[in-house]
Amino acid sequence: MDDAMTALPLVFDAPRRGMPPRHLADLSREEARAAVAELGQPAFRADQLARHFYRGVTDPAQMTDLPIAVRETLTEALLPGLLTVVRHQTADNGRTRKTLWRLHDGALVESVLMRYPDRATVCISSQAGCGMACPFCATGQAGLTRNLSAAEIIGQAVAAAAAMANGELDGGPGRLSNVVFMGMGEPLANYARVRKTLDALLAPAPHGLGLSQRSVTVSTVGLVPAIRRLTEEGLHVTLAVSLHAPDDELRDTLVPINTRWKVGEVVAAADAYAARTGRRYSVEYALIRDVNDQPERADHLGKLLAGKLAHVNLIPLNPTPGSPWDASPLPAQREFVARLRAAGVATTVRDTRGQDIDGACGQLAASDAEPGVPSIAVPVPSVEQPVELGAEGDE
Ligand code: SAH
Repeated sequence: MDDAMTALPLVFDAPRRGMPPRHLADLSREEARAAVAELGQPAFRADQLARHFYRGVTDPAQMTDLPIAVRETLTEALLPGLLTVVRHQTADNGRTRKTLWRLHDGALVESVLMRYPDRATVCISSQAGCGMACPFCATGQAGLTRNLSAAEIIGQAVAAAAAMANGELDGGPGRLSNVVFMGMGEPLANYARVRKTLDALLAPAPHGLGLSQRSVTVSTVGLVPAIRRLTEEGLHVTLAVSLHAPDDELRDTLVPINTRWKVGEVVAAADAYAARTGRRYSVEYALIRDVNDQPERADHLGKLLAGKLAHVNLIPLNPTPGSPWDASPLPAQREFVARLRAAGVATTVRDTRGQDIDGACGQLAASDAEPGVPSIAVPVPSVEQPVELGAEGDE
């Protein structure tokens, strides 16, 4: 047994099969420079390639700062195309766009780009499928296919940044400002590659997208050792914890990994992260009619979180095919919000962008079916929607 055992339990070691060819975005700057040198080129060409990649340039013909003779070689060796668009679907007047990507081995994943008046957010996938098996989430139903490589995850954000820069979403050219790991997969079950992705999102050009830590959100079912590791590594990205129930009995059924790490441990790990970063974490809670939306559960959740550096983000359940469950009716939502606020817990209700293209939270279940056939699902990020239920400024 090696010391990798100490990092995360083996249960999270997804199959390595299907991993894509090496890509510049999988490498550290030093490794990239060494790889370029191995190809007989000066090391600074790694920086040139990085600049092109993070700007979304993949066509060698456009890499005019590289000698023609080496463009193809370097591109093939370090910028292999890993993500192929199968299709785009737009909603919300052209301001939400879901993309279905095919990976080199045929695996499918989705990402969703959402434009708001003050920001543009992309929701990205960290795994093809998901092994967490939450019964209300479409992605969880098909199980895990494989982890994505860092370059496959980063590529989704780079494509979104390029789409914004090129004005591909309604509203003209803009800038990608936020990234949320709320697409397919459990990001903390693919820790090392997600960690690399965070570095790339945060690094300034030419080695990354230059996003701010607070505008990047990692959402997790609550893999406690991985939350601790994130804390120890001194990251300040926004942490979202998918709680969905304040009590272990119910959470054991809604988020099956709860049988391993209990509500109390998950909240304690998130508290430690908040203490280290000084930043509020977000508690995700899908409101499911007559399952977890009772007034007494709101009170229980309020007690659990009162006085903590946390805010609750309620997500009216997005129904998934074949599930008997439904979103909580509005009066139940209002009551839930009111009780949490009465307990002193900041609470907002998430807007569900992209619902009609199965692009909302928990709806991503990439398949290659015809558009319009309700089979796709990828969770979409958040937007606080203070309108109906009374505003409570987030952040
Ligand atoms: N594995 C990560 C990311 C998943 S998706 C996690 O669990 O946090 C992002 C959010 O969407 C999670 O909070 C998830 O629980 C929620 N979600 C999943 N299915 C949903 C559904 N059908 N309706 C509403 N939210 C859902």
